[in-house]
Amino acid sequence: MSNIIPDYMEEYIKNLAPKSDAALQELEAYAEENNVPIIQKEVAAFLQLMVSIIKPKKILELGTAIGYSAAVMSKGAEGNAHITTIERNEVMINKATENILKLGLCDKIEIMPGDCLEVLEKLQEKYDLIFMDAGKGHYNHFLPHCLRLLNEDGIIIADNVLYKGMVASRELLVRRKITIVKRMKTYLDMVCHNDELMTSVIPLGDGIAITKRRKP
Ligand code: SAM
Repeated sequence: MSNIIPDYMEEYIKNLAPKSDAALQELEAYAEENNVPIIQKEVAAFLQLMVSIIKPKKILELGTAIGYSAAVMSKGAEGNAHITTIERNEVMINKATENILKLGLCDKIEIMPGDCLEVLEKLQEKYDLIFMDAGKGHYNHFLPHCLRLLNEDGIIIADNVLYKGMVASRELLVRRKITIVKRMKTYLDMVCHNDELMTSVIPLGDGIAITKRRKP
């Protein structure tokens, strides 16, 4: 389990999440069989709800994997959002391309191949929602670019910010994750202790941070 909230609560919340449709279930099954880390069920439900509330026209995602969360967000937006999603792993890019085609979302989801930081540096468009789900040890490096690319009323949702509880408890910290955890703490510090930003950290899934700009 995630070490974020008690197991019984996690299980309960997971079971409250709505069942995915057949097409998304297929992606969930593939991810499980092939050990592809996709967003958890309760995070998918949360993302879909956020998208349906915010009604973003343009979404930027860091970390496509097989295209699952992009498809979830597209569904939440009822096809009214254009999603740009960044992925550097060629196997993932091919699988995501195949899935997006199968789901009929080619005109809604565009994959940008490459490293997030390098692609972010080149992007100039503004986005209403940015979903961070790649390179857990680099959220602090991605943030300045994401803020530059974020519309005035835009929102950044970052997944895995509590990182299996290691961010909050030294007892859970494993040696090989020390750098990632340190950098994730830096990210949380950057978004939580900044007079220009508002952030809420939610212990859902592996921890989610939602950030927006304060009104001047
Ligand atoms: N958002 C996806 C979903 O829920 O369906 C899951 C994304 S998975 C957790 C993270 C993905 O980010 C992996 O496919 C990995 O190859 C990719 N990735 C990791 N670091 C990256 C980086 N620096 N630039 C681009 N892609 C990266």
